[in-house]
Amino acid sequence: MRWNRRTKERKTEGGLLRLLYPHVCPFCGRVTAEDICNECREKLYYIEEPRCMRCSKPIRSEEQEYCYDCERHTRVYERGYALWVHKGDVQRAIYQFKYHNRRIYSRFFGKELLSRYGQAVKKWDITTIIPIPLSRKRRRIRGFNQAELLARELGRGLGIPVDAKNLVRVRDTRPQKKMDAKERSLNLKRAFAWRGKGRIFGNILLIDDIYTTGSTIDAAARVLKENGAGKIYFLTISIGQGY
Ligand SMILES: [Zn+2]
Ligand SMILES: [Zn+2]
Repeated sequence: MRWNRRTKERKTEGGLLRLLYPHVCPFCGRVTAEDICNECREKLYYIEEPRCMRCSKPIRSEEQEYCYDCERHTRVYERGYALWVHKGDVQRAIYQFKYHNRRIYSRFFGKELLSRYGQAVKKWDITTIIPIPLSRKRRRIRGFNQAELLARELGRGLGIPVDAKNLVRVRDTRPQKKMDAKERSLNLKRAFAWRGKGRIFGNILLIDDIYTTGSTIDAAARVLKENGAGKIYFLTISIGQGY
C-alpha cells in the first residue's frame, strides 16, 4: 500500500514538473515527449567491444586487453563502465546537467545506466552506492552534486542504499584538465577522506559523471579500501577515448 501511494505521488509530481518545464532532449535541447528525441537516439553511440577490460574505454583492437592508462597503472578499483565517449552531444549534455542546473537529466542518465549495466551491478554484489563528492565550496556554488543525483537514481532502481555523506572531499583540487596522469594523481592524493563511524562493509559502487584517466575513482577507492571496503566498482555517464 505504502509503495503504491509513494509511486502515485512521484507520478503526480513528475506530471506537474512536465507541465511547468516541458521536457527537452538532453542532447539537442528540442522539446520532446520522450527522454531523448528520435534523431539523437539514432545517432547515439554506446560503448561496446573492443573496450578496456578494466575501465571500459573503447580501444583499437580485440587483441588489446587494456587501454593506455590502465596498462600503465595498477588500479585500486576492480572494474567499471561508462555509457558514452565524452565528446560532442554527450559532452554538451553533461555540461548542461552540471553547470546549467539541468538536474532533471539525472533521471534519463540514471535510467540509461540501469538498463545498460543494472545486471552487471547485480553480479558485483554491492552493499552501498557512493557518489564522488564535490568540495563543500563547489557544492555550495552549484547547489547540488550531479554524481549524487545519479547515485540516487541508481539506488532507487536497484534497491541498494546510497551513502552521500561519509566520503568527503577535503581539498578543493585544482581543475585537472591540463594535467597529465601523474600530476592528477598527486593533485588527488589525500583529496578524499572517510568520515563514517566504524569500518566500511562489503563492495562499493562509486558513481561519477565523467571518467577521464581514472585517478579520481582510484583516489576515492583507496580511501574506501583503507577503511575496510571490499571490491570497488564504478559507473559514469561518459569516459575518454582509450588511445
Ligand atoms: Zn535530440
Ligand atoms: Zn582502461
